[in-house]
Amino acid sequence: MPQLWATARSIGTGLRRVFFWFLGTSITSVWFVFRDPAFDYRWLCVGALIADVLDAPFGGARAFHSMPVSIAALVLVVLASAGRKRWRKRALAVPIGMMLHLVFDGAFATTKMFWWPFAGLHFADKPLPSVARGWFDVVLELIGLVALAWVWRTFGLRSKAQRDLLLKQGRLELVTVRRR
Ligand SMILES: [Zn+2]
Repeated sequence: MPQLWATARSIGTGLRRVFFWFLGTSITSVWFVFRDPAFDYRWLCVGALIADVLDAPFGGARAFHSMPVSIAALVLVVLASAGRKRWRKRALAVPIGMMLHLVFDGAFATTKMFWWPFAGLHFADKPLPSVARGWFDVVLELIGLVALAWVWRTFGLRSKAQRDLLLKQGRLELVTVRRR
């Protein structure tokens, strides 16, 4: 019986990986902060999800839940894209997504993890915040879904042209602007 319980628990933990929360919060934050229709939202989504994907196999929050690592990624993009303005603009969406993940994951609450490696090389053996929150993640996922529904409506993603714009160029445009 205890073994069955342990198996059920580990399956539950595996399923409790927050997804919509990070997509919804990142897309809406970038829209309200930058108001830039040319921003590449596809790469933003990659950046917003990459930390949990890359850290999960190591058993918890590791290097990708640290702000210095996100800043290093930002510097790397800036250096690698010297003289390539268009490429830079697109690629910057990844580190921006990584930073937004830290904000909406509440990663700053764990100093040792957030400032790794400056707060010591050893990882504070913490689980992924999106696993440690437990049932509260259901609430976050619902909020994320509401945000995504707003994105769907606001940017007219019911229309194939608007969806293509997002999938092929990473762009979100207000429907009213496009019709004008
Ligand atoms: Zn995370």
